[in-house]
Amino acid sequence: MSFSRFALSLVVLGAVLAGCAKPPADKSLMSYSRQAVSAEVTGSILTSAQAVANQPMPGQIFSGSHLGGRTLAVSSTADIILRPGEVVLTFDDGPRAGKTNQILATLDQFGVKATFLMLGSAAQAHPELAQQVALHGNTVGSHTFDHVDLSSLSRQEALNEIAKGERAVAQALAGVGKQLSPFFRFPYLSQTGFLRTNLMQGSIIVLDVDIDSKDYYKDSPDVVTERTLARLDQRGSGIILFHDIHQRTVALLPDFLTALEQRGYSVVRLVPKNTGVFGRDVITADAADLGE
Ligand SMILES: [Zn+2]
Repeated sequence: MSFSRFALSLVVLGAVLAGCAKPPADKSLMSYSRQAVSAEVTGSILTSAQAVANQPMPGQIFSGSHLGGRTLAVSSTADIILRPGEVVLTFDDGPRAGKTNQILATLDQFGVKATFLMLGSAAQAHPELAQQVALHGNTVGSHTFDHVDLSSLSRQEALNEIAKGERAVAQALAGVGKQLSPFFRFPYLSQTGFLRTNLMQGSIIVLDVDIDSKDYYKDSPDVVTERTLARLDQRGSGIILFHDIHQRTVALLPDFLTALEQRGYSVVRLVPKNTGVFGRDVITADAADLGE
């Protein structure tokens, strides 16, 4: 297999991060500077493929070391730079009773941490599960409140939906003193340039997907595993998308992690650089200027 192509999707944005820290327990979580909000952003989301593996690769690339890899502290999407053989596990749409807890057990068994992008509605329905995810050392981000296709909403509605999701997940975690991390993933990976730019300028870390397991297809666990491994081997590293709401995902995870270990991959734990504190102002009211 060829590992010559280690492409990272980096968003070329001159996004300026807000400097003021504000705990997520604040009633309004979103931060958009007036300047950022009023700026018209069209077609400014540029994705570049940048080779990071100029360094020589050893013949046997992965050395069968421990599956649990390094912890990567990031403050922006552009900071998420993986080395060859490194993967980030992400689980969207939970927490889900009967599924998320089993996934947590498997992750613990293999000694790895994942990032969970939770729906506000699901975290609100099962705060104890959301808390368990965080208490087990995993990173918790958000994924809107109701899994809406944000590109179908007005800008104001979309921002409100994102903020509502963050608020609900943060409230669920607050029960055990845990904090929401500023990671966010667009439902259906459906984004607009305006939203992406504004989130990033507000210091939200937009989590992209390099390897989609497509575990929402009605395939057998083995088929999903093989598809995901094939795509990963092709790429050599990347952020992997799973969903902790499907039984097949629960079923395939042990075999998948075993295969990762055998192939010498390591699982990187993603954490926010500011230890969970939001590094951004809160000026949700300004979003009213958006129009549409
Ligand atoms: Zn989703």
